[in-house]
Amino acid sequence: MVAGDAAGALPWLEEPLRRGVSIRSHAVLVHGPDGVGQFELALALAQAWLCEAEGAATRRPCGACASCRLVGAHSHPDLLVLVPEALREALGWETAGTEGDEPVEKASKAKPSRDIRVEAVRQAVAFVQTTAARGRAKAVLLHPAERMNPIAANTLLKTLEEPPGAARFLLSCAAPEALLPTIRSRCQSLLLGVPPYGLAVAWLAAQGVAEPAVLLAACGGQPLQARQWWEEGIDAQAWRQLPALLARGEAGPLAAWPVPRLVEAMQKLCHDVFSVSAGAVPRYFPEGSVKGAADLVRVADWSRELARLARDAEHPWSAGLMVEALVESARNALARSRRGVRAAVNSLHSAR
Ligand SMILES: [Zn+2]
Repeated sequence: MVAGDAAGALPWLEEPLRRGVSIRSHAVLVHGPDGVGQFELALALAQAWLCEAEGAATRRPCGACASCRLVGAHSHPDLLVLVPEALREALGWETAGTEGDEPVEKASKAKPSRDIRVEAVRQAVAFVQTTAARGRAKAVLLHPAERMNPIAANTLLKTLEEPPGAARFLLSCAAPEALLPTIRSRCQSLLLGVPPYGLAVAWLAAQGVAEPAVLLAACGGQPLQARQWWEEGIDAQAWRQLPALLARGEAGPLAAWPVPRLVEAMQKLCHDVFSVSAGAVPRYFPEGSVKGAADLVRVADWSRELARLARDAEHPWSAGLMVEALVESARNALARSRRGVRAAVNSLHSAR
């Protein structure tokens, strides 16, 4: 890997990057599941478009020319990256100081925005009208594109329909169905799926993740998500013990889990309880850690309640109460005796 190489750190991006550089369209939509490197792939493609090495723009970025180094340093004058403030730290895309909605954000004391704001999109539209400083192209990267509200998306649409000569757009997105159909139809799509298993496990091991196969399965094959969980303190041991802990109703060890993470873990447990009850192997939890349920109707009720909670993922939970209520609902749903799930559902409502 060369310094300043946007894709080099994630080996499974090489193949989709080869597909990406062969696309001639002025707008590309990178789509697929979260946690596999959409942002990094989009950035590598922008780097390829701007690369100044001989024969560039039809192959992967060289990682070494002046342009590639500027992309690596987050200071290329012809690249504009629009990322919601709330995601910048996680993506390692901070402090470049020129992009997006920063002045607007800094003016308020509000929580970091989770959206790509219309002001930022207006800035992108103005950016592509100007001449390329290094003379090759101008590139705008929006991630995640589904975080544009309809006003922001409509602001972008006209420029996507009639782009100035040297302008190219990269949109990355985990939920293409959430985009305006008119935005989707202006872009050529580039699918980034779940990486090959062996590559993902080897990469996680190289990151220092213990028992990487367990966390990779826990995250549905998404290695960047698995690394994030590991950094949050969720290890293979904790994951393996989670079903038994919940069946016993022990909330203590889960007190530090973010509520949305716990809801997601419980949804995965519901999936695996159904699988095991039907005689299949679990998908997310190690074999042997999940038992079939005494009452699948109760598990189904629990699953529906969890789905409702997941849709409220940005709700300002009272975390302590919520974790206790969630664990109580899990204990009731997973209990081997036949008690109603109604009490658990009620306790979830009263915690909100
Ligand atoms: Zn280069």
